Parts: sequence; C-alpha cells; structure tokens
Amino acid sequence: MMKGIFSRLNAASQQASINVEDLGDGITAYRLHSRWTRMLGFEVSFYRVGDLLVDTGFAHARPLVLQALEGGAISAICCTHHHEDHTGNVVALAERHGCPVFVFQPQFLDSEGLDNLLPYRRLFWGRPGDFAAEAMGSRIMGRHAELEVIPAPGHSQTHVALFEPVSRTVFVGDLYVAPGASAVMTYENPYLLADSLRRVAALEPRRMLTGHGIDARNPVDRLLAKARSIERAAARSCHLVEEGERPRAVVRRIFPKGQRKDRFLEWVTQGEFSRANFVRAVVKHGREGD
Ligand SMILES: [Zn+2]
Repeated sequence: MMKGIFSRLNAASQQASINVEDLGDGITAYRLHSRWTRMLGFEVSFYRVGDLLVDTGFAHARPLVLQALEGGAISAICCTHHHEDHTGNVVALAERHGCPVFVFQPQFLDSEGLDNLLPYRRLFWGRPGDFAAEAMGSRIMGRHAELEVIPAPGHSQTHVALFEPVSRTVFVGDLYVAPGASAVMTYENPYLLADSLRRVAALEPRRMLTGHGIDARNPVDRLLAKARSIERAAARSCHLVEEGERPRAVVRRIFPKGQRKDRFLEWVTQGEFSRANFVRAVVKHGREGD
C-alpha cells in the first residue's frame, strides 16, 4: 500500500506521462515521457504484440505502466536488452501477470553498469530491481502472437531484435537510436553494432519500431546507411589515432557538429556516454582481420 502511494508520488514528481497508440497489426505502442526524456529530447517506448510485451519502460513511470496494461493477459515479457530504461517494470509486471521474462544471454544481466547504476541512471529512470530472467531462445510464442529472436549485440551483450513475421515488423530497442555513427556507452562495441544492423536489414522488415520513439516504414536503407556510417567513422578514427591524434581531437574531426551537447552528456553521465567512447571503443575492439 505504502509502496503504491510512494510510487504514484514519485511518478508525479518526475512529471511522468504515458500515451497509448494502436499501430494496427495487433501492435500497441506505449510512449513514456518524464522531465528527463523532455530534456534529452526522446521518449522511451515499449510495445505489446498480441499477448507478448516488448520491453516495459522505466521505473519512475511504474503506476502509469501498470494501469495502461491492466485488463489484458500478458503471456511473456520479451526484453530487447537489459538496460534500466526498458526493464524498469519487469518485476512488477511479471508478478502481476504471472508471466516469464526473457532476456538474451542473461548471464550478462549483472554487468555493463547495471550492477552499480551511476547516479544519472538512477535519477533519469529509477532502479529496475533484481529480476530472474529465462534465456531467450530463437522464438517466443504467445497465444496470439509469435516473435523471432535475432541476436543484435553491440549496444549491449544482451541485445536482440524481435521480428514479427506476419506484419514484418521489427522491434530493435536501442540498436537504432539515431542515424549515423554516434555517441556510445563505455561497454559498447560499434563493430558488432554495424553487423547487427546488417543482420536486421537482411530480414527486409516493412516497419521498424525502436526503444526511443522511432517508427520507420521500409527501414532497410536507413539500417544499412547507419552500418556504413559506423564503419566509415571507425576506419577514419583508427587511422587518425594511429597517426597520433588523441580521442578528443579525433571526435572534433569525425563529428564536427553538436560538440557542446556531447560534452554536456559526457559530463552528466560521468563519461559513460560520449563520442570519445566511440573512438576508444573502435580502437579497443578493432575489426577482426584488420
Ligand atoms: Zn540501452
């Protein structure tokens, strides 16, 4: 009871809101906003496909999420990846609907920063809480829907794309947050990300729905353009570093626009998210065979 009251007060103080939209083909979009998403300039989105849930949004919006999903059976929660802005309500929803939670490679659940969330992540999204997840196989069957699981590591080791074959809709989580090469988190591998973008493009999806609000029809060209842009920026970064440039100087050459926003995000996230991380990551991981 107290927990519920606290949770509602918290949602109000975060100025959290939810929009529910019927997208057709048995798919519903849930779009979450808060004071922080407004500052960052994007929403956090999760989806329902028949009786399967794709992601759950962030913990600060919990009462709104639980209310929006009241009255319909959910057979399984399918996580595109384990980050707290998408798994924030897994525990509460699994308990309420008595359903399993599926994560790809759940052995990585306690890594990549989730075991020790930095202050900005707790502030923006809240704590997801510990949850038991079952390993995601190659397919998730609901009573009224089915999703094919496409491994899509890069943004995280747990990342997948979920493909609904009847409408040819693909749910890509954070595989596609923005066009082109961009800032990454410390744990990311841009080469794997580019490979994953190509793998998803090969499905020839008719619609792409992302974890932060993008709804794109016929997304193949966009996916391939992002993969190419990452590979070009990676090759150029490695070349400049080999010539003795420091990552910060490489960033100025590779990403001439938006320097101030990037430095601000780097400061807020204590260096966990930045374009300099992109340069460090491509140097660290290298393209196999290079
Ligand atoms: Zn993420």
